[in-house]
Amino acid sequence: MTLRKAIAGTNLEQAKSHNRRVVIEAIRTNGALSRAAIARLTALSTQTISNIVEELEREQLLSAQATLKGARGQPAVPYSINPDGGYSIGLQLDHQLAVGVITDLSGTVRARIERPVDRPTPAQAMPLLATIGGDLMRKFRFDRNRLLGIGMAMPGPFDVEGMTSVGPTALPGWQDFPVAEELQRLTGIPVTVENDATAAAIGERLYGVARNLSSFVYLFIGTGLGAGLFLDGHLYKGSRHNAGEIGHMIVKPGGLECGCGKRGCLERYVSLRAAYECLEIPDPDHASPELLQALLANGDSLEAWVAQAIDPLRQAINMLELALDPETVVLGGFMPVGVIELLASRLDPLYLSVSSTSTRTVPRVLVGAAGKDTSVLGAAALPIFSETNPQFDVLQKPHSA
Ligand SMILES: [Zn+2]
Repeated sequence: MTLRKAIAGTNLEQAKSHNRRVVIEAIRTNGALSRAAIARLTALSTQTISNIVEELEREQLLSAQATLKGARGQPAVPYSINPDGGYSIGLQLDHQLAVGVITDLSGTVRARIERPVDRPTPAQAMPLLATIGGDLMRKFRFDRNRLLGIGMAMPGPFDVEGMTSVGPTALPGWQDFPVAEELQRLTGIPVTVENDATAAAIGERLYGVARNLSSFVYLFIGTGLGAGLFLDGHLYKGSRHNAGEIGHMIVKPGGLECGCGKRGCLERYVSLRAAYECLEIPDPDHASPELLQALLANGDSLEAWVAQAIDPLRQAINMLELALDPETVVLGGFMPVGVIELLASRLDPLYLSVSSTSTRTVPRVLVGAAGKDTSVLGAAALPIFSETNPQFDVLQKPHSA
């Protein structure tokens, strides 16, 4: 008899660890909160909240603020994140740039490093990323026992036979390469890897326009295009971490040839690469997004590209709205914000969908607010919110030093 896979149960330890993260996220997103306010926001029992808050305070992850005197009832103690309670390193690798940041537990960037790369192979990128990690820790010194881990963002898709690592929008030589294991071996620090669109969705949820949303799609317009899916308060990653790889969704059958082997893929119309080609920018492999911003500033309407991009983008938004019923679709990525605003301004009228309702409070499309560091900030948050990161729980054990 073959056994069918069941929905994973949650044991007490996992539940406790999950609830700790829920409490920390509630305070990170809202600022200082009393136990009663945390209970209202998280739907956890007051006893559970009390236990968790006490524990987090003992571990110096939370600190108590001055008591607030309410009109009636017991005075409430607000708790805020202790920024120095924990640190994490965020790394982002793309075609032309490697970026690293150290953030504290409140999400504030304490050090940042940027290094140019040129479509690096793993053999080129891995030592560089490890060096960036080391340099960050020399730039900003802290108690290493409080380092929660490394979160890394890079372009997907991961491990798709016959489709990945081909064409100009994928990084060469990364198929089947064990990124997390190798970086962990080089640095001695636990590593969580996520695609850049998913990391950017986390960044936008923690710091940007999606702070109060529980279901949204983040369209990451980079060299290629991908979507990060944040649904019902959770990231949706798919069975092989490739959910949202919609850059290779066909929007024009028989259209432009794509490096994946098909024709008419979305990212052949909506991506930096597509813009460079349409606008006949020389050497598109080494063109920079700032070039598009400069053209725009000089009065170029980018029309040769925008006219081709807008319909495929409308179609993608329509499909995402109908399939996922999100509160909004956020546009962002490495595309300069001025260019994204230009695209957004041309989207009207969007196609009819389940999102075309008069009762909505959030526009159907928003331009991301967290800027070009959205995904590296999201990457830095991975070690804090990754359900599988054991390092986070190590903090609750007394340090031997
Ligand atoms: Zn394709």
